[in-house]
Amino acid sequence: MKNNLDSANSLGEIRKLAEKYPTIEEEVLDSVEPVRSNGKIKNLKVFNPATEGEIFDLRREILKIDQDIKVTDSTQQDIKKRKLFVSFLNDHCKIAQYIFSGKTSCHVCKKPRLSNEMFERLYHLPDPEPLNCDKYKSFDQLHVYGKPTSEKYRPSLVGKPSSEHGLPFSPSSQYAKNVEMVVLCSDCDKPRVLYSKKVVRGVRRTQLSNCLTDIQYTCGFSFDELDLEEETHVLKTVFLRKNITCNCTIELTYYSAGFEDVCFFCGTDELEPAEAGDEDEAKKYYPLCTGCKDNGKKLVERRTRNKFNPK
Ligand SMILES: [Zn+2]
Ligand SMILES: [Zn+2]
Ligand SMILES: [Zn+2]
Repeated sequence: MKNNLDSANSLGEIRKLAEKYPTIEEEVLDSVEPVRSNGKIKNLKVFNPATEGEIFDLRREILKIDQDIKVTDSTQQDIKKRKLFVSFLNDHCKIAQYIFSGKTSCHVCKKPRLSNEMFERLYHLPDPEPLNCDKYKSFDQLHVYGKPTSEKYRPSLVGKPSSEHGLPFSPSSQYAKNVEMVVLCSDCDKPRVLYSKKVVRGVRRTQLSNCLTDIQYTCGFSFDELDLEEETHVLKTVFLRKNITCNCTIELTYYSAGFEDVCFFCGTDELEPAEAGDEDEAKKYYPLCTGCKDNGKKLVERRTRNKFNPK
């Protein structure tokens, strides 16, 4: 058994092993050293993982909201398809990048334990607001509790993307084709293109996809932030644009490299179908989904190569 685990190189492989050998889960939990604060993170608090029983109880509650929800619905895109659950979240919760708070009552929720009087005075948590250039207001300084606030001062929205793409070469569709792989942002679910000057095939390709399952990528992250000791590590030759945030559209090179069509604005593959007879016209534009169209997003014309500007 131990040997099996030793040969597993990624979380994905360990998961597969655990499906075959039920005792693996315990072995892994036993072997993981407790997280230690490295001094840089002061207020780090370690929580125990949820138990099987707790997960079961949560699932039973969720099924009361939407009976269609499956155990395999694990991504934001999966959840978006569960209409009842989404409308429950919209009625009950405030969902922001750093905040999730809920309040209201209905057939699923139990009656609040607080007195009515106190419950009425509870509001959703306010969004962050700046005090000055490098500090945010404390809760007491906010004076907006109970009033609507917006996410516009959220650090990742205020923070300008790096002005440089950060690649040692230009991120072209040719270099994207050398990798033929994208990575999904864990915040916005958009696919982001991987670039390499040399073709990544065979063992290095396997090594790359194993590494990617272990990394929780968010837009703007670059592999050089990782502590890679091995000089020949595959992540030292594969790059992502640094000058990208979750607000950015899909990269143009994504389309020119020939990846599967996804919405230009949000990255979903559930696209607005072209009207019959209009297919050729539709090809002139980057793909658009129904949701983005309904939100007022306009079609963007595809960049075409011409002889004066070969790329
Ligand atoms: Zn409710
Ligand atoms: Zn993102
Ligand atoms: Zn969209």
